[in-house]
Order: sequence, then structure tokens, then C-alpha cells
Amino acid sequence: MSALIKAAAVPPHDSTAYHCLGQVLDGSPRQSSRKVVAAFPVLEWLHNLGLAKYEEIFVREEIDWDTLKRLTEEDLCSIGVTALGPRKKLVHALAELKRHEGNPVETPDIQNVVVDERNKLATNKLITDYFPGSVARRKRDCISAKEQKETLKSHPSSASRSQQKKNRINNVKHKTVPTWCCIPGTPFRVDAFKYLRRECSHWFLTHFHMDHYQGLTRSFCHGKIYCSSITAKLVNMKLGISWDKLQVLPLNQKINIAGIAVTCFDANHCPGAIIILFEPPNNKAVLHTGDFRFGEEMAKIPILQTCPIHTLILDTTYCDPQYDFPKQEAVIQFVIEAIQAEAFNPKTLFLIGSYTIGKERLFLEIARVLRKKVYVSAAKLRLLECLEFPKEDAQWFTLNEHESHIHVVPMWTLASFKRLKYIANQYAGRFNLIVAFSPTGWTFSKGKKKSPGRRWQQGTIIRYEVPYSEHCSFSELRDFVKFISPANIIPSVNNHGPESTRTMVSHLLA
Ligand SMILES: [Zn+2]
Repeated sequence: MSALIKAAAVPPHDSTAYHCLGQVLDGSPRQSSRKVVAAFPVLEWLHNLGLAKYEEIFVREEIDWDTLKRLTEEDLCSIGVTALGPRKKLVHALAELKRHEGNPVETPDIQNVVVDERNKLATNKLITDYFPGSVARRKRDCISAKEQKETLKSHPSSASRSQQKKNRINNVKHKTVPTWCCIPGTPFRVDAFKYLRRECSHWFLTHFHMDHYQGLTRSFCHGKIYCSSITAKLVNMKLGISWDKLQVLPLNQKINIAGIAVTCFDANHCPGAIIILFEPPNNKAVLHTGDFRFGEEMAKIPILQTCPIHTLILDTTYCDPQYDFPKQEAVIQFVIEAIQAEAFNPKTLFLIGSYTIGKERLFLEIARVLRKKVYVSAAKLRLLECLEFPKEDAQWFTLNEHESHIHVVPMWTLASFKRLKYIANQYAGRFNLIVAFSPTGWTFSKGKKKSPGRRWQQGTIIRYEVPYSEHCSFSELRDFVKFISPANIIPSVNNHGPESTRTMVSHLLA
């Protein structure tokens, strides 16, 4: 009865709500439940498999539920799930998932989606921006929280199971804030939006990558968010955070926040990424690197040369001697030469992989050196416009795909030959050779030679993996630690507890 009353309260112009409610009221809950599955959280799925340690990789690669279902074993290898045990476990679970997707009697947990839906739709939006239709479809398909509550009332057994899951999610929400998100001697948090607390009102965001802003939504009401000008624009545009909640931090200029000196520097990671120096009154300075790549410019920063750093919170993405990849310049040169070598065929399409933001320097350098425009989608161009490129750089981007045979595409679309064949079919007639470049540091691991690129070919598709990384290689990490010589190091990536901290720190100091 209550569901009927709610139905009457829905405004007549809200056709989406009527459509969803119809599914609940017409006695076909299974149909609506199947659609709810589309938003089931990937991270929860990983957690349930006991593979939570791969959470960061899945977040970094922006794998949403739709993408997850299409992952192949080859994809898993390429994103860094290389160990045989977990990889096979995932392959098996993916096969199970696909099997269940076709099963009409499944009854997924609705309450779980009530808790996560608001965040998930926002975070999934980034990857689906490249395919705008899927966002609209997803919005149509989802059931509003209000409607889900009504569904729960009519399914008490589902509600009790749901409550268990809700409790588990609440436990995750209230777990201790990791040490690498806290700045000792200050009331500040860094990249800690998964752990929002009322008692903190100063939230720093080092850059606009999902694994750093995860948890930040339009409803943020916990004080101020401090970040660079570029990151602030992206947070405003992509997450809908209003400007009154954002405070832009200037670069290379000491400012005072809540009585603490704060200075930011370019992190040489994605556009807008900063490393932050905090100088609290206890004279124990803390340097938080966010994600970064150490280079000559950073080594010239005077305050980093002179200020004694007590605690270094360090991006340890590649804190293992096996990750010794070349400098970005060497990889850019390799890609340019490869394009020149493959371009003997005028019907060649070059694809350059890119994250939502990240890898811009690579395709910009290619355009500059070859004096050729690169095609980007309208959604990508809107993002690029936030990145404060000078006019002479922005002129190299075009929305007209016929104006360029170098196209910038989402990284995951290049992850396997299977996907590339799909792209090749779409371009059949116009191009007869596809040359794809996947720029990521993950491609180089144990046993592989330190080289600026590797080439594979299947018929008319050529795929290069190039170790173009926006994180420090292991040797750069060691150089940086030597340069800063901190009293204390807190690894911020792949830190699973005291043992992994000890291992990483011993690698760095060896
Ligand atoms: Zn990042």
C-alpha cells in the first residue's frame, strides 16, 4: 500500500520515475533487480573475492561494472594482475559473473546499491563520458533510493541480508584513517575523502585521479577542499562541488592555513598534481608527494633543498627494484620514431591511450614534433580545456577526426587485440592498418628488458606497450629519498601494513 501512495506522489512529468516504479508495482521485481546489478560496486566484488589488494589497480584503471564484465585474462595482465593465483581466481569469477548475468532468477542485493549508488554513478561517469549514451541509459535504468526503500518493504528477507551488507559497508566507512592520509602535527587530511569525518575541516586533494578523490561527492559538507587551480576546475566541473567549498593553492608560494605554513609544488604527474610541504609549529615538516615523478626541476626547488623534512609521505607505486623504466623523454622519442616508421602506409590510424587526465605530455609532444594535429573527443576536449594549456599547445587538438590520423582514446580500449579488432572494424575502408600505443609504467616488470617500448602485431593491428610513466621509477624514488633525507618514510601506495612498509623502506634505503 505504501508503495502505491509513493507512486501517487511522483510528479507526472518525471517519466523516468514512473518507468522505474512501474517495474516495482507491476509485480516484476526481478526485471528491475537485474538492472540494479549494473551499478553493483566493483570494489565490493573484489573484496568478496579476497582480492582487495587489487582495489587500487581497478580504481586507477577506472574499471566500472560494465568494463569489468568485458575484462579478459590478457587485460588483467596488462593492468598489473600478473600473479597466476589471483589472476586465475579473477578469470574464474568473471566467467561466473557472465554466466549469472544471463540468469533470469538472480536476486541481487538492493540495499547494497542504495548505499553505494550515489557515489558510484558519479565516479563511473568519467569513463562513460567517452560513450555518452551509456550514462543516460544507466540513469534511466537505475531505481531511485526512495523506490528501492519501497521494494525493501515488500521483500523483508532481502532487507535482512541487505542490513548485513550495509553494516559491513558502514564498518568500512568508519575504519581508521590511514597514516598516509594524515599530516602529523596538523588537523589536515590529504586525499582522504573515503574517510570523511566531522571533526576535520581541512581536506587537501593532490590531484584529480579517482583513487585520490574517491569518496568526494556533490554533497561534501565537511569544510574546505584545498587543491591546485586545475584540480579545482575539474572538481567543480566533473563532481559538481561548488566554488565556495574550494580553495585554490598557489604554486611555489608559502601560505598560512590554520596557523600552519603550506607550500605546493608541481608534482610532474598529471596536470594540476601537486606535492605539498606542511611546516607545523612543532618544526617537524611533512612532505606529502601525492602521485609524482621526480625530475631535475623538482631537485632545483630551494625550499626542498634546505628545509629538513621529518616525515615523507611517499608515492610508492613502483617501489620495487624490478620497476626501472626509462625517462619520459626517451619514451616520447621512441613513440615518435615508431610513428614515423609505421607511417609508410597513408591509410594508417595511430591510437594513443590516455587516462581521463594523464599522458597529455606524450600526445602533445607527438603533435608538436610531427606538426600534426591529434583528434580528441568532445568530452576529452572539455577536460583538456580545464588543464590551462597555453594557446600554442591547445592549437594541436582537433574535434574533426578527418583532420587527423592520430587519435587519443581511453587507455582501456587498447588493452587487448580483441578490442583493437573491434576498433579496426569500425574504421574499415578508411584505414587498413591500426597502430596503437599503450603508455603505462605497468607494462614493464620482472624479467623484461629496460627498453622504451615493445611491439606486437596481429595481422593489420600493431600494438606497442611503452613504459611512459607519470610515477617515479624505482631508481628515481631512491634518488628522491636521498635528496629529501627524511627522518621517517610513510609509503602511500601498496602499503598493506608494517611488513610491507618495512620492505619498501628497506628497498629505498638499501
Ligand atoms: Zn595519479
